[in-house]
Amino acid sequence: MAQPLFRAPAGTRDILPPASARRRGLVRVFADLADRSGFSLLESPIFEELGVFQRLGANNDVVTKELFEFFDKGDPPRHLALRPELTAGVCRAFAEHRPTPPWKIWYSGPQFRYERPQAGRYRQFEQVGVETLGTDDPHADVEVVGLGVRFYEALGMRQVRLLINSLGDSESRPAYNAALAAYLQDRRGELSEQSLVTLERNPLRVLDSKREQDQPVIAEAPVMADFLSGASAEHFAAVRAGLDSLDAVYEVSPRLVRGLDYYTRTTFEFVADALDTAQNAVGGGGRYDGLVEELGGPPTPGIGFALGVDRILLACDAEDAFSGTAPPVEVFVVDVADGRSAVVLCDRLRQAGLGVDRAFDGRSMKAQMKRADRSGATVAVIVGPDEQAAGTATVRDMRPGGGQRQVAADDLVAAVTELLTGGVQ
Ligand code: AMP
Repeated sequence: MAQPLFRAPAGTRDILPPASARRRGLVRVFADLADRSGFSLLESPIFEELGVFQRLGANNDVVTKELFEFFDKGDPPRHLALRPELTAGVCRAFAEHRPTPPWKIWYSGPQFRYERPQAGRYRQFEQVGVETLGTDDPHADVEVVGLGVRFYEALGMRQVRLLINSLGDSESRPAYNAALAAYLQDRRGELSEQSLVTLERNPLRVLDSKREQDQPVIAEAPVMADFLSGASAEHFAAVRAGLDSLDAVYEVSPRLVRGLDYYTRTTFEFVADALDTAQNAVGGGGRYDGLVEELGGPPTPGIGFALGVDRILLACDAEDAFSGTAPPVEVFVVDVADGRSAVVLCDRLRQAGLGVDRAFDGRSMKAQMKRADRSGATVAVIVGPDEQAAGTATVRDMRPGGGQRQVAADDLVAAVTELLTGGVQ
């Protein structure tokens, strides 16, 4: 067989049917939940000016190493980047349009990071997420985190753990950062080479290391909880109490810091225990009370999360959850006359709201019935030369024990609908 000339670029892949339908189904479950919770869809550009993402933090891998950057053809050229995540774009949109707060939005779409591809880690991956901008009410945190919890439940997932922490505010952070840096410097001899580099740039991120060698040092590191200001401690207590009132199970994880630098106060992560790879985080988020201001907007608190669709689906596979939706084809039209009837009948049935497919190329009855079987359709509509001449069609129930009957073409929609809504005939 001839080799293909091109393949999908490293870290990307084609999502073929039926996996693609299952993905769309998952996004629909999320969209439905978000819509019903008062979040509205925001569609923002897939690329932004580079500066938008640089606000995510100068010491951040996502910004320093993983951006897909490019110049456009402008004069002078603009420095742009494919979005590595959506929170920065949402805050840019807020600063640009100044909607009335609280602004509750949800989104879904592809993100791009130049990472080393491995199981569950891609260079193009999809996220769904929500953001609530313009309130620092701890109950907004509870609503956001709770929505994540309910989403995994709606997919039928049972092995997702919620970890939460508070990273404190601008009052609590400096003292903690100083204590942590001093501690890590003290034990630098035990840290991995990579963590030593991270330590110079951002001591907090050392806590994010998954390397075996770093774990004993991380386990004894000072925790933020001991440094929280009164206001931050109170906020965190209110968030926990709210989650308790929803019976949402969580673990306070005092060393949870997460990858992006902009988080303040509430941070959280959803971990899928069914995934035994290093990439078992299926979502995460937190508060970013300074980000809108950094992007030139008014001081605006915000909280949100992004969930990784690709990894959620891997976790669903691992725990046998969310098998996907039923095939959308309900009716298969088989035309063994000259194909003209199939053109009209498919259109008529589709206009009536039914899922309808057909074969092409004047295939034999046997070949077309095989296609009908494979399509998963419940009903086959068959037209041969006799039916075509008489203006009728045969309606066949494809379920085991199903029969068939002839109907006038004009009665076809009614007959098929009756069969689909009723039982086996
Ligand atoms: P983050 O924006 O880094 O907080 O990531 C949020 C979620 O997106 C993670 O928990 C993952 O589920 C998913 N995610 C992040 N990076 C990748 C990637 N390179 N490939 C697949 N999923 C990812």
